Amino acid sequence: MLSSDKRVFYEDGAEAFAGAIAEALDAAVVDVERQQNGSFVKKIRLFVSASPESFEALTGRKAKGITYRGSVFLSPRLLEHPDEIDAYVTHELSHLFLLQHRGLYKYMTMPQWFTEGLAVFVLQTIFDVRCIFERTR
Ligand SMILES: [Zn+2]
Repeated sequence: MLSSDKRVFYEDGAEAFAGAIAEALDAAVVDVERQQNGSFVKKIRLFVSASPESFEALTGRKAKGITYRGSVFLSPRLLEHPDEIDAYVTHELSHLFLLQHRGLYKYMTMPQWFTEGLAVFVLQTIFDVRCIFERTR
């Protein structure tokens, strides 16, 4: 599976992972824009690494993902739990949305409980709605 999504940039060897990210992206954008009440105002860019080591070399972190430099960076450690990829992409896009709207300085000086809490809130709301939908079908 090769990603032709122009928002997803990937390292050689990360084609399948990038494809999975691209598949999750449209729904994540819709969810974040709806929950955070607006539109992304700049380009959405996701950089997908082929290995946890190359992710760490790129970002200096051992995390599964990070939003910085106006972009989302994702580690293939996400593939350890493929069922969580959608949620993770949505989580990072919540950060990216806030970063785009507030600018780097304001974003970086926001308390972490708020930025992480908002990302969790966005996800939880979507999750609750989907649960209700599942139950009523
Ligand atoms: Zn986060």
